[in-house]
This record gives sequence, structure tokens and C-alpha cells, in this order.
Amino acid sequence: MAFNIAIDGPAGAGKSTIAKKVAKELSYIYVDTGAMYRAMALFFLREGIAAEDETAIIQACDRINVTLSNENAEQQVFLNGENVNGWIRTEEVGTMASRISIYGKVREKLTQLQREMACTTDLIMDGRDIGTCVLPKAQIKIYLTASVETRGKRRFLELQAKGEDCELEKICEDIRKRDEQDMNREISPLRQAEDAVLIDSSCLTIEEVVEKILELVRRCSSH
Ligand code: C5P
Repeated sequence: MAFNIAIDGPAGAGKSTIAKKVAKELSYIYVDTGAMYRAMALFFLREGIAAEDETAIIQACDRINVTLSNENAEQQVFLNGENVNGWIRTEEVGTMASRISIYGKVREKLTQLQREMACTTDLIMDGRDIGTCVLPKAQIKIYLTASVETRGKRRFLELQAKGEDCELEKICEDIRKRDEQDMNREISPLRQAEDAVLIDSSCLTIEEVVEKILELVRRCSSH
């Protein structure tokens, strides 16, 4: 049976940075499920389908094929055969992803694909519903969080380093809005699974969080 590590938590908690490092240490595949929701969001944006138009979204789902591959240890996301990695990291796509991820049809499609991958492959998968819904039997579950202020500040510094114009207050506001949407939706809301280990990264370095997770893996493997 494959070994699965599930990491859930709110936007900006550092899930992907940490999951990538843990995956590298363990030689596991890293699956970023947010990128899959973003690829679907990109499709709807390109087609001019509004997030509120549930009928159009449900109908369009059958025309969408999202696949993943790993190249040079980086996850590549394909939307109907096109590599869309370069298109999905904008705020617009992130917001759209959060808005369309409320629909059962969208979630079912991606959940199925995620489960198929986890069944045969040792992996670390991050998202919002991995421990609670996608992989309820994952050997290790982490709920990684940090205060809104910490997450906002990290994002602010990241954007500043890229030379992008940004405002800390606005970033914190966007984070609060996304948390609100993700935690309060009806289907698979973001929450900590009962058997997940809570890690608050507000006062921890990336290395410290990685070490905590590796320690959990070591303990689990020795049993
Ligand atoms: O993690 P990331 O910010 O890329 O995810 C974008 C959005 O996709 C999230 O805000 C969330 O609404 C949605 N998502 C989800 N379930 C997942 C992963 C992401 O609903 N497993």
C-alpha cells in the first residue's frame, strides 16, 4: 500500500513550500491540488463563464481534462493537453478557484483523480480537504496554519521581492476573504481532520516545520 501524507490548511500557510521540501527528502511525489482547481478556474475564465453560473459550470466540466506530470521535480499541470503552469498563479485565478471549488461536480472530478494517484504512489498531497475527504486513510495528516498577519506579511514580502506593487492591508483582507469562503462552503469545507496534527507555523521557520513532519514520518514508519 502506498504511503500518503496529507497537508491541509488556509491560503498562505506555507503548505506548498514545506510539502515540496518534505517530498524531496523522502523522494516522494508532491501533488499540489490547489493547482488543479486553478486549472479548472482558468478554463472558466477563458470561456467567460461566471462563477455564479452553476448550470454552465456543471455543463462545462465534461469538456475539461486536468492532468499532472512531474518534470525536473516540479509539478506540471495540463488543461486539455496544454501546460498551464505559467497561467494559474495570478490572484484572479486564485479567487476564481476558490469560488468554483464550492460545486460538487468540480470537486468530484478532481477528487477522483487525486485518489487514483494516491492509491499507487507514495506521495505528499496538499490542499483544503485532503485529510478530511480525499484521503481519509492517509498515514499522516497535518493541518498547517498561521495567523492572518503572518501569512499576509509573508505574501507581501514575496510580492515585494518580485518588484510587484502591493499593500499589506489589502493582502490581509484578501486572505481573510479566502479563508471565509474556504471554511464556510457546504461541500468539503477547510477544517482540521480529527486525527490531523496541528502545526502553527507563525513562529516556526520552514526548516523547523519540515523537521517536525519528517519526525512524524520516522515515528510512523518505525511502528
Ligand atoms: O492552494 P491554492 O491557493 O492554490 O488553492 C486555490 C483554491 O482552490 C483554494 O482557495 C480553495 O478554494 C480551492 N481548493 C480546494 N480544495 C483543495 C485545494 C484547493 O477547494 N484540495
